[in-house]
Amino acid sequence: MSDFPTTARVVIIGGGVVGVSTLYHLAKAGWSDCVLLEKNELTAGSTWHAAGNCPSFSTSWAVMNMQRYSLGLYADLADEVDYPMNYHVTGSIRLAHDKNRMLEFERARTMGRYQGLDIEMMSVSDMKDAYPFLETHDLAGGLWDPDDGDIDPSQLTQALAKGARGMGARIERFCPATGVTQVGDEWIVHTDKGDIRCEKVVNCAGYYAQRVGEWFKPYGGRTVPMTVMSHQYFLTEEIPELKEWTEANSRKVPLLRDVDSSYYLRQDKNGLNLGPYERNCKAHWITPEDPMPEDFSFQLYPDDLERLEWYIEDAMARVPILGSQGVGRVINGPIPYAPDGLPLVGPMPGVKNAYEGCVFTFGITQGGGAGKVLAEWIMEGETEWDMWAVDPRRFTDYTDQDYCNRKAIEVYGHEYAMHFPHHEWPAARDKKLSPVHDKVSAAGGVMGAYNGWERANWFAHGR
Ligand SMILES: Cc1cc2nc3c(=O)[nH]c(=O)nc-3n(C[C@H](O)[C@H](O)[C@H](O)COP(=O)(O)OP(=O)(O)OC[C@H]3O[C@@H](n4cnc5c(N)ncnc54)[C@H](O)[C@@H]3O)c2cc1C
Repeated sequence: MSDFPTTARVVIIGGGVVGVSTLYHLAKAGWSDCVLLEKNELTAGSTWHAAGNCPSFSTSWAVMNMQRYSLGLYADLADEVDYPMNYHVTGSIRLAHDKNRMLEFERARTMGRYQGLDIEMMSVSDMKDAYPFLETHDLAGGLWDPDDGDIDPSQLTQALAKGARGMGARIERFCPATGVTQVGDEWIVHTDKGDIRCEKVVNCAGYYAQRVGEWFKPYGGRTVPMTVMSHQYFLTEEIPELKEWTEANSRKVPLLRDVDSSYYLRQDKNGLNLGPYERNCKAHWITPEDPMPEDFSFQLYPDDLERLEWYIEDAMARVPILGSQGVGRVINGPIPYAPDGLPLVGPMPGVKNAYEGCVFTFGITQGGGAGKVLAEWIMEGETEWDMWAVDPRRFTDYTDQDYCNRKAIEVYGHEYAMHFPHHEWPAARDKKLSPVHDKVSAAGGVMGAYNGWERANWFAHGR
């Protein structure tokens, strides 16, 4: 007789870090009668190739909360489930090129303090002490995040999977979900190995979330608002000065984020890992000539280092040892973006007993916290923290695909940019205009977009 499960309280579709973390948190809270379906091997989507950086910093309260929780979880997980992991807490330095950036850091520092994080402001000489290879002549200062570091994303996912299995949850690998049917308040999730009847279903399908989301449309669902971008990093060959320094100091150099230039630079073994968020970025699978493949498991896009040239040169001027050795491995992989760059975590809009935990651009550092939040939504119908910033219901009917594509390109290219209060980003505007829009504009209305509606933020005299 087949051992394939035919019933479960919850079925999770997708075995990346987010789906597995959700399963782990459900099992930990006693909901062990849950099944995760993964179409390939665990981590086959974006998780396997992620750089694994784990900041706690965010300018969003909800996101900082998820990240803070993740880092606490990751620190103890290896011992808890007896699964050794490479997790290096190196601390990180965010560089400020001017005093406006220092103000942004000060705001994040105080928010972090309120969440119990020991984020500190740094002077230029503090930075030089912490990172001797850094050129500091044109910097205003920086921000020190002592909890930042990097984790092996595959090991993290496997550790969560081991924990979940140990508590009785099931993981079915090489078992794609092929569709869903709603029957009363319950769901039937279809696979080639059989159907699973369940109370609740969760879309954790990563960059395939929009495809999986389509199955829910007959039951009140909408198209999942997202676009798949390509994101690259490269690893250098071993750098002798870095090796020597690491051995002499028995530690790695901290992770650097030059947010004004828009890249991170992290020590990887005795080389460096450079990952820019470039302005001239690229969306994939958005035209009929470039359709999304049925299966992209464990695959990458072709290397495209030319796009990163400006950033590589800038980073070489900042940390000259970067240019001393050649490029080793290049990773160019799919990364999903929602129109505001934040993930979708919570109830699926319009659909009963269905949830979303998808479209993560920083899923490694957010996966732990996202699993906790999703498990709370599923079990309690509410969350401990205010999670509106990532609630899927924050987007309504104005997010057509053209809007999603234009916003994803804008957000990716400005991932590290300053978000000044009252600044309104220009891409994909004018989605919804009120009957008095022209009159308001003529009266000097300076517009902002609210749930798609253009509304005057203030009136500029003399325009
Ligand atoms: C180059 C690069 C570097 C990155 N670096 C970092 C970093 O340093 N730090 C960080 O926090 N984030 C980083 N990210 C982002 C991170 O990789 C993702 O946010 C994260 O992996 C998303 O996890 P996930 O579980 O949501 O999705 P995924 O890992 O994509 O998992 C989704 C899973 O769903 C499965 N699936 C899809 N359809 C079905 C179906 N029908 N049935 C069953 N299974 C299905 C897929 O096979 C896949 O395994 C990086 C991304 C890229 C591209």
